Amino acid sequence: MNSEITLNISEFHWVTQILDTMDAGLVVLDRDYVVSVWNSFMQSYSGVLSQDIIGKNLFDAVPDLPQEWLKNRVKTALTLETRTFSSWENRPYLFRFHNFSPVSHGSSYMYQDVVITPLRDLSGEIGHIALQINDVSEIALNKIHLRETNQHLSDISRKDGLTGLLNRAFWEQKLRDEYNLRQFIEGKSSLVIFDIDHFKKINDTYGHNAGDEVIKYTADVLRKTARVSDFCGRYGGEEFTVLLPNTTADQAKYFAERLRKRIAAEILNVDGKLIRFTVSLGVCEYRSNMLSHIDWLKKVDRALYHSKENGRNQTTIID
Ligand code: GH3
Ligand code: MG
Ligand code: MG
Repeated sequence: MNSEITLNISEFHWVTQILDTMDAGLVVLDRDYVVSVWNSFMQSYSGVLSQDIIGKNLFDAVPDLPQEWLKNRVKTALTLETRTFSSWENRPYLFRFHNFSPVSHGSSYMYQDVVITPLRDLSGEIGHIALQINDVSEIALNKIHLRETNQHLSDISRKDGLTGLLNRAFWEQKLRDEYNLRQFIEGKSSLVIFDIDHFKKINDTYGHNAGDEVIKYTADVLRKTARVSDFCGRYGGEEFTVLLPNTTADQAKYFAERLRKRIAAEILNVDGKLIRFTVSLGVCEYRSNMLSHIDWLKKVDRALYHSKENGRNQTTIID
């Protein structure tokens, strides 16, 4: 008798206990996906008892498994005769198990890392594969939460709280980037600035809250009128700036006039108060003789000033 391949009954009992107390799922399959091991972890989370699944085809017993995906993974492990690993970041889970963890943050399923190991039989042939299912929900949820928090922080550091447009600091950075780019690469870019006419009167007549609604509404019209490639910012109180890359002064004026007419045509209803208002705008295309991005901004501001002086509700191009 060959002692190397004989496992005595008490040793076998220990091995079974180890598999059953493992804090991970263990499934052993033959090449036809017939189940020969299904440990306690698998029983508790799937609700399927080992006596009901051993000897059965895995895909018949658990129909919602991603069959193609698993078969491809197993094929790789068998061909390379090596373990393969699949992270929750590529596929959140293999077995759809409910998550009972208190840190689940509302997530309903268990995130899993999966290790596939080819197993050699006594003959030396690889006749079976082991699937190890690790519950990584806590790590996954922390990582997802951290990512969401970072995204939120970067959003609030870029955006204006009232309107959701770019805030002044971030918008100015975009303007500086565009100015620097134009120094090196030939192309047309334009700047539009606009300010709500007689806004003090809106505040005084309808109240500060209604004033805020007018600002938010103006931002909405701006967003709808601009292209996705334009950078729309709230520069200050009721003053807005738009950077239009790859746009000539004439095209920018067309945009500005469309925006002006849209705003002038609408009557805004704020809690039953009907508010009609207008905006004045300035347009300025980038020129290579400008001294800095601030110089560009000063020039477009002069165009706006001209629109105000000239009677408001109009657009001025400065050259
Ligand atoms: P003009 O046509 O010359 O622009 O006249 P105007 O009354 O609009 O004058 P100006 O642009 O100087 O007025 C800005 C006013 O906007 C002053 C300030 O009280 C008000 N304001 C600034 N920020 C806010 C805000 O966030 N909400 C509200 N409701 N009012 C603001
Ligand atoms: Mg104003
Ligand atoms: Mg103003």
